[in-house]
Amino acid sequence: SPSIVWFRDDLRLADHPALRAALDRDEPVIGLYVLDDESPGIRPLGGAARWWLHHSLTSLAERLRERGSTLVLRRGPAEKVVAELARDAGAGAVFWNRRYGQPERDIDAALKTALRDDGLTAQSFAASVLFEPWTVATGSGTPYSVYTPFWRACLALPTPREPLPEPLSIPGVSKAPPSDDLESWELLPQHPDWAAGLREMWEPGEPAARRRLHEFLTEDSSSYEAARNTPSAGATSLLSPRLRWGELSPHTIWHESVQAGVGGMFLSELGWREFAWHTLFHFPDLATKNLRRDFDAFPWPTPDPEHLSAWQQGRTGFAIVDAGMRELWQTGYMHNRVRMVTASFLIKNLLIDWRIGEEWFWDTLVDADGASNSFNWQWVAGSGADAAPYFRIFNPELQAKKFDPASRYIAEWAPDHVSDSPPPQIVDLGETRKAALQAYEAVKGAS
Ligand code: FAD
Repeated sequence: SPSIVWFRDDLRLADHPALRAALDRDEPVIGLYVLDDESPGIRPLGGAARWWLHHSLTSLAERLRERGSTLVLRRGPAEKVVAELARDAGAGAVFWNRRYGQPERDIDAALKTALRDDGLTAQSFAASVLFEPWTVATGSGTPYSVYTPFWRACLALPTPREPLPEPLSIPGVSKAPPSDDLESWELLPQHPDWAAGLREMWEPGEPAARRRLHEFLTEDSSSYEAARNTPSAGATSLLSPRLRWGELSPHTIWHESVQAGVGGMFLSELGWREFAWHTLFHFPDLATKNLRRDFDAFPWPTPDPEHLSAWQQGRTGFAIVDAGMRELWQTGYMHNRVRMVTASFLIKNLLIDWRIGEEWFWDTLVDADGASNSFNWQWVAGSGADAAPYFRIFNPELQAKKFDPASRYIAEWAPDHVSDSPPPQIVDLGETRKAALQAYEAVKGAS
């Protein structure tokens, strides 16, 4: 009786505990991916994420085929689809790596019970975060709300396990179960095809992810600490979409970084990723509800649609904001410093609710994930965990002077801003700052 490995946010063969468990069972292996836009609470993927998924699945399917197995693609409510395939294929076991969002956990728990009731083995594994969320708590048993003690507590736990080796051969079934044709999922943009910049910048899939990790650790990481805040420096790892899709596990990155002598600053960025996922585990509504409930009193005005589209399209007249928003649209990525500046501008200079910005990033980022995006938007808004205080309002012009002093980043993404006639600014920084601080008084009054 074959084993099914249900791939989700872990589109890799190396360090894949669910795949390892299937191989240890010594039966043929069927790989499965389910596109689930239907189950209650499951957030449909954004456009850039769908682009990445298409290519990463293509790569995974090819790698499974090369090793003797297969990837079956199915669409629909996951709990039903996985159980159906298990029955039709006469499977004896289903294995998967854990997810941490509430709707995903509900599906997985219900499926586990149903499969076990039918006499199958159903087992899940830790693979996508370094520390399981329920193992990290304050002395009084509550989740951490401040990063530094959170990460200190993580580092006091046993070191994350060594990554598992990549299997060289994976036995398959003699007749593969029917699979959807990936093209029929229409994950790629058609009219218009907006993905040219994404194709130019990225190569999804596990082999390219491994190459990028190696390149970063051997060539680029020496300037990480000094230059990670300089958007034009190319000093950061660009591993975020690879982690989002699980083409690399955090364990692999952790251990290879330590071996390469890459320091604590880089590992502590992985710590922010852990913090975001742990926060989502404890506060499942992170994408829609203020973590600090006193922010519910914030009097958001009705958003000005022209301001919103100027922000989305990079036409605000503020150079670093426009550069960042155009980088995002063209490549599906934006440097972290610029993410902070563009998010702050939307929330505090345009007085537009962080949730509206979060949705735009969700649709346009190749690394948009269920935890980090809303976590960081709330961090900028001041409503989140260990957040920047609301009244700390970035001045986009000063931020550009400080982090892009020679305007290299701006010249690359918004060259009109370094021309003789830069575009007009859509708001006055001083006035909007004052209005934001005034609106914030309502939150202070509520707390
Ligand atoms: P590096 O500096 O090389 O960092 C290494 C890894 O650490 C990253 O790949 C990422 O996995 C993790 N990391 C670093 N900073 C953070 C952080 N602040 N929060 C969580 N993880 C972090 N990151 C996402 O992965 N997905 C998102 O949807 C996302 N949305 C964001 C929205 C806003 C408004 C802001 C301010 C930040 C957001 N980030 C998000 C965090 C951060 O900007 C990206 O992880 C980072 O820019 C990715 O580039 P890198 O891989 O080169 O980072």
